[in-house]
Amino acid sequence: MAKKNTTHEQVGQTRALLKQAHQLIKSAQRPLLICHISPDGDAVGSMVGLGRVLRQMGLAPTLACSDSIPDTLSFIPGSDEIVSQVDAPFDLVIALDSSDMERLGQFPKSPGFADVPLLNIDHHLTNLNFGDVNLVDPQASSTAEIVLRLLGAFGAPLDADTATALLTGIVGDTRCFRTNNVSPQVLEAALRLMKAGASLPYVSLHALDSRPTAAVRLWGAALSQLQIEDHVIWTSIPLAVRQETGYTGTGDASLVSFLISAEDADAAAVFVERDDGRIDVGLRAKPGFDVAQVALQFGGGGHALAAGCTLPGPLDEAQARLLAVLKTSLVKQRAKRET
Ligand code: 5GP
Ligand code: MN
Repeated sequence: MAKKNTTHEQVGQTRALLKQAHQLIKSAQRPLLICHISPDGDAVGSMVGLGRVLRQMGLAPTLACSDSIPDTLSFIPGSDEIVSQVDAPFDLVIALDSSDMERLGQFPKSPGFADVPLLNIDHHLTNLNFGDVNLVDPQASSTAEIVLRLLGAFGAPLDADTATALLTGIVGDTRCFRTNNVSPQVLEAALRLMKAGASLPYVSLHALDSRPTAAVRLWGAALSQLQIEDHVIWTSIPLAVRQETGYTGTGDASLVSFLISAEDADAAAVFVERDDGRIDVGLRAKPGFDVAQVALQFGGGGHALAAGCTLPGPLDEAQARLLAVLKTSLVKQRAKRET
């Protein structure tokens, strides 16, 4: 019974939030849409999908990201309209797929940012609710799924390009409907998008099964340095190795999602040395474990099964610090499961 009430409350709360978000958007003319740094398919797909509909509603949105959009996401229709500098005035900010303000890059420091309402649309467990309205649902598969709900609240018609952008977000964040948050609602959302003209084979091919050849070389180099201890599997990518392979993207080219497939691993980590000497860490957990709490301790965030953070260098020190905390956390999590 208690559970049922909670569910009703959540649905009520979500409806109220959708209404508040709708109100904010209705009173804006020039919204600024921004997504997180090192953008992925959900960040770009949810932003472009929402941006297209806002434009169809007669608004003049600006779409921006602090980092450049990887070539692998250029198949998303309209992704070429995303800018990295904002000169135009704006009367509303909509943050997408970002769990905190730092992940929004330079924009929160830009003039006028603090003077307009901030709508925070996200699905990260670790979201800090930094907006004036926080349309945050950690149960949602992706930010794109929440955007689709919002468009439903507008009664907005979906065209094939909008549907393709949003399906990219869902497919990317669920690794094509394979993560443990995939519910019938997620499949229904995907069905709506396919009926509106999105192609699942096209989206999954581009979003998941296509990567620069240099990324494959990067995997090779990183896999040759693989380590496993105490049910944690990890590897590192020093700057020199990244340069040797010719990989120009940020992060680990999704290697950590592959590492967690190792049967003996409860958690996986990949440490990537950035150009500025700081260390990006990608974390994954097997179902039943939670790496978001570890990422949060280092100022990062994410979901229970997929999280990340950035630590100061050098590489070996960052690796030692994080692995110690991760291993201790897993020991505690196992003990808790057994009681
Ligand atoms: P990935 O390993 O795919 O880059 O990230 C996995 C998840 O963790 C994503 O949901 C991503 O948004 C989140 N994440 C990765 N790095 C960071 C970080 O430095 N800070 C925060 N807040 N979240 C991160
Ligand atoms: Mn996401």
